[in-house]
Amino acid sequence: MNNSLETIKNIIINNGNIVVLGGIEVMLEAGLNGVRAEHIAYDIEQKYGYPNDDIVSSLFFSRRVDIFYKYYKEIILNKNDIQPTNVHYGVAKLEHYGKLDTVITRMVYGLYQKAGCNKVIELHGSVEGNRCPACGKIFGSNYIRNAKGIPECDVCNVPLRPGFSLLGEMIDNGKITQASFAVERANVLLILGAPINSTLCKYMVKYYKGDKMILLNKDESPGDYTANYRAYGNVGDMFSYIMDF
Ligand SMILES: [Zn+2]
Repeated sequence: MNNSLETIKNIIINNGNIVVLGGIEVMLEAGLNGVRAEHIAYDIEQKYGYPNDDIVSSLFFSRRVDIFYKYYKEIILNKNDIQPTNVHYGVAKLEHYGKLDTVITRMVYGLYQKAGCNKVIELHGSVEGNRCPACGKIFGSNYIRNAKGIPECDVCNVPLRPGFSLLGEMIDNGKITQASFAVERANVLLILGAPINSTLCKYMVKYYKGDKMILLNKDESPGDYTANYRAYGNVGDMFSYIMDF
């Protein structure tokens, strides 16, 4: 471990009011594909006959719900046992110590909550929040995975709506406002597994007014220099080291 990790660790130890931006690399390290699965886009088009971004669009959902749910089960829920990593547990530890204001993420697996976090804003919703459009009953990811064919409400027998937003749908404005206020009042802005030029950072970093923006990611990206402190490598390993206090 290098010196900058030591510096970052001291900042975390000595400061509160931390807002975490949880990025895509955290999800990839957990072995998950995400909704769009950009890293296997070519394979998806070969297998399903449609581009990944088409399949997860609201238009496609209304026309080919059968293919959508095949993709949901096989690609989005690509692991049977979806478990938090050291990153999620580390963020939960921040909350336990009273240091966490909020964790904000575009990821949809509910892993921060699974690790014990309560202060989570999932901008795009969650695979744990699939909903019956008729009665509003909520169904988790296991229900989707185990359903034969198109998952239906066990009361109304109508196809469920996915718990995450589809491309072409508006993101909940209330969530964005809540997230931007959190970033605005943050003392430390801790970016885990996302480059500064990612969509998540592009929308959120501009609200930060402090001088303790920390970025941990796998590789360096253009634009990252605007962070005050940076370290590169396996995000889980780095954050485990930082949170070992
Ligand atoms: Zn229902």
